[in-house]
Amino acid sequence: METNKTFTMIKPDAVANGHIGAILDHITKGGFKITALKYTYLSPEKAGEFYAVHKERPFYADLVKFMSSGPIVAAILEKENAVADFRTLIGATDPSKAEAGTIRALFAKSIDANAVHGSDSDENAAIEGSFFFSAFEKF
Ligand code: GDP
Repeated sequence: METNKTFTMIKPDAVANGHIGAILDHITKGGFKITALKYTYLSPEKAGEFYAVHKERPFYADLVKFMSSGPIVAAILEKENAVADFRTLIGATDPSKAEAGTIRALFAKSIDANAVHGSDSDENAAIEGSFFFSAFEKF
């Protein structure tokens, strides 16, 4: 299992608000190398599949609706200790609780429209990266 990769999405709110460039800049200045990158859209079906682990949670329907409300940017990132370091860079799920200077503190408005996704384990980073990218698209 690789420990130097994580997966991220810039969510529909951050894309719609024009933050793609600023967030990618924050990520690269944070020491992450982008090894795959895609501007794309999740249909409700695909968003439901991506977040299947949250199927039983009360916010699942809202989450699927929000994630399919507009285009997103998907990326695989490389850095030593990638998963934990990226979660530190993005801050808490609820932006009102995110530390100052984190991506969610800077660019997110609410717990559902929280600007970015970050994988929570090495295993999920690999699964999520392969959800969006073929072997030919990972560098
Ligand atoms: P993350 O790993 O920090 O993204 O958080 P989770 O894996 O726990 O949840 C996945 C996503 O579901 C979050 O990024 C939020 O967009 C959304 N979410 C989590 N908790 C809530 C909640 O209580 N209400 C709503 N509306 N959305 C939530």
